[in-house]
Amino acid sequence: MTQHLKHFIDGAPVDSSDGARMSLVNPVDEKEYATAARGTVEDVRRAVAAAHAQLKGGAWSRLNGAQRGMLLSKLADLVQRDLDMLADMDANAIGRSPMEPRMMDVPNAIANLRAAAGWANQLEGRTIPTSGYMGTKTLSYTVREPIGVVGAIVPWNSPLMITTWKVAALLAAGCTVVIKPSEETPQSALHLAALCQEAGFPDGAVNVVTGCGEVVGKALCEHPDVAKISFTGSPEAGRAIQRIVGPLFKRVALELGGKSPQIVFDDAAFEDAARGCALGIFVNQGQVCAAGSRILVQKGISKRFAGALANAANQIRIGNPAEPGVQMGPVAKKAQQERVNRYIQRGIDEGAQLLAGGVSPSGPGFFVKPTIFAGATNDMTIAREEIFGPVATIIEFETDGQAIALANDSEYGLAATVWTSNLARAHKVAQALEVGAVGVNCWSPLDANLPWGGLKTSGIGREGGLGGALAFTEEKVITVLLP
Ligand code: NAD
Repeated sequence: MTQHLKHFIDGAPVDSSDGARMSLVNPVDEKEYATAARGTVEDVRRAVAAAHAQLKGGAWSRLNGAQRGMLLSKLADLVQRDLDMLADMDANAIGRSPMEPRMMDVPNAIANLRAAAGWANQLEGRTIPTSGYMGTKTLSYTVREPIGVVGAIVPWNSPLMITTWKVAALLAAGCTVVIKPSEETPQSALHLAALCQEAGFPDGAVNVVTGCGEVVGKALCEHPDVAKISFTGSPEAGRAIQRIVGPLFKRVALELGGKSPQIVFDDAAFEDAARGCALGIFVNQGQVCAAGSRILVQKGISKRFAGALANAANQIRIGNPAEPGVQMGPVAKKAQQERVNRYIQRGIDEGAQLLAGGVSPSGPGFFVKPTIFAGATNDMTIAREEIFGPVATIIEFETDGQAIALANDSEYGLAATVWTSNLARAHKVAQALEVGAVGVNCWSPLDANLPWGGLKTSGIGREGGLGGALAFTEEKVITVLLP
């Protein structure tokens, strides 16, 4: 039976002000499995009003940090209880194997909530020595205050995990939120909001408005009572958001795309590196911001390494991820399948050597073959642009200096991986890389306590860790004259 999802505003499921709906399509069989409310500017107004009221004298504004922490702990317990259901929601919506969100995304979401539960009571100010005021002593200290209502705009590739990155931290900081999930994946955000209510969060503290970025996302960016936009998604949408929030001086965090290098030195543990690089590009069909899509391999091992990766790609069983033994499902949507195919054709046209995969036929299902290009150069389109699919480009290098130069020759700067058994080389290279996070002999580890974010076109700001919660506060200075 087709499910009909509604917004969650002020503690209640509601339809759009104009009754409009949008279709949710299963990427495996291309059939509609649910509809969701297509949000309007009026829906955003209602949600922001509810979130704002909670900050201006509402029950939420009267809670202290310890009480907010207790609510977050309770929410973490409820997400733990519903782990399988939430994992299935996120997996089914984008055709992903449910094992991945069960093992990674939802446990990460729970960890985000538990970590934030601890931070809620730790957002301390400072006491700062000063030279006084006109010869009289003063006491200056700072307090951390919630920024206000946050608009949290989320992509489809890891919906619950990314939503909790934002929501856990901002609730710890005392903010309230209107979540705008991706058009493809509203379910887990709506369920999270219902769990917030079950946990005892006051109505209006957490709201969800489903719908299109250009309407709901834009209206959140423009709304005068939204103090901060916390966005994860494409650089194109990030730019559109910047154009609106920049002149309004709103706070903004942008977690954008990547073209992350995995650097494999000839002294690396070969099998571990091959397995790690395959994971880094094929997990979630390569639809990961930190996907290790540029694989830089030292000359002495490059042919053997490319062969090992092609072998790994050819062995992946593609199909309906609900069936046993299937390791890779389709990509999330038709537009994504067309995009990835276009890039694969471009790689062939620009002269890269196709070792595995290739352009995939359309339907039924948005399937794309895991694809490996070798003999590529860093100026090829497949080495420069984010494909967001299971496509890796192997580029050869000779020296450490060349590896660093190639890795940094990118408009992106999100993550990188260094595979080597030489500790000094690992640290030296890691420090020279222009990215937000480096994994040494491991691909892109995520942890609720670690900051996450990128340089250059990969974004502005950091989420995760205590700093992630502090980013949802303003530091106010109070100076008291002591005559
Ligand atoms: P997208 O930019 O198309 O959409 C992301 C969200 O923004 C969606 O909710 C969408 O509705 C909304 N949106 C779109 N246009 C908007 C606009 N003009 N104003 C306001 N909101 C708007 O991205 P996507 O296709 O959902 O996700 C893929 C992208 O996300 C990739 O580039 C990927 O690298 C990036 N990503 C980054 C991270 C990170 O942590 N850096 C994590 C996951 C995904």
